[in-house]
Amino acid sequence: MALPFHTEPIVIAIDGYSSCGKSTLARQLASCFNCIYIDTGAMYRAVTLFLLDNRVDINEVTSVEKSLDNIHISFVRSGGSNITYLNGVDVEEQVRSLEVSQNVSEIAALSVVRKKMVALQRIMAGHNSVVMDGRDIGTVVFPNAKIKFFLTADDNVRAQRRLNELHKKGDIHIKLEEVLTNLRHRDMIDTSRKDSPLRQAEDAYLIDSTNLSIEDQLEVALQYIKMKISD
Ligand code: C5P
Repeated sequence: MALPFHTEPIVIAIDGYSSCGKSTLARQLASCFNCIYIDTGAMYRAVTLFLLDNRVDINEVTSVEKSLDNIHISFVRSGGSNITYLNGVDVEEQVRSLEVSQNVSEIAALSVVRKKMVALQRIMAGHNSVVMDGRDIGTVVFPNAKIKFFLTADDNVRAQRRLNELHKKGDIHIKLEEVLTNLRHRDMIDTSRKDSPLRQAEDAYLIDSTNLSIEDQLEVALQYIKMKISD
């Protein structure tokens, strides 16, 4: 499907709290409109994995900055989803580990890291129609995006959804409490950091998915897109 009634490339920016369905919605919209999907969270996760594997002290900004020169992130589309590659190696599973989740927000709060990721995100999007999800897409990466969503949901509901996903993947030992603590911790750092804190852009459309199914959430988003595009 092509983006309706529109010939110019369109950026769809999706921001919001941890585990509230941003990537599910982003994937669905990218598939509906046949455009690129960029999961910016996976990029911060890949940086985190590299710094952990190489035991880089994140309090040493110069060491982090130097490491960034050795980090090459790319995505490969496979069977409708994106696989994250770090320096040519498939790290899709590793970047979703609890260890990475427990460290990523501290690393994503570093300005040197954000500067490099934001530049890379703009290059990856190029002049294409793109769906990008993260924490600062509508506020910093593409403040002029025509379509912006801000997603939220009750944190207990978010934790349960995330746990179900992890259990499906085989991480059966993870407990609900651990997931809930992690997502509250990430939300706290993401909203309070100095550089590009998570916040709803003034012109972003708020979707609270607490009581919405995945299908309902997509329907709400599509209705809004149709309305915006025919403006
Ligand atoms: O989206 P996901 O939960 O995979 O993102 C992991 C972490 O990366 C977030 O908790 C946040 O700290 C950071 N992030 C960010 N800016 C983005 C995307 C993600 O700071 N644009």
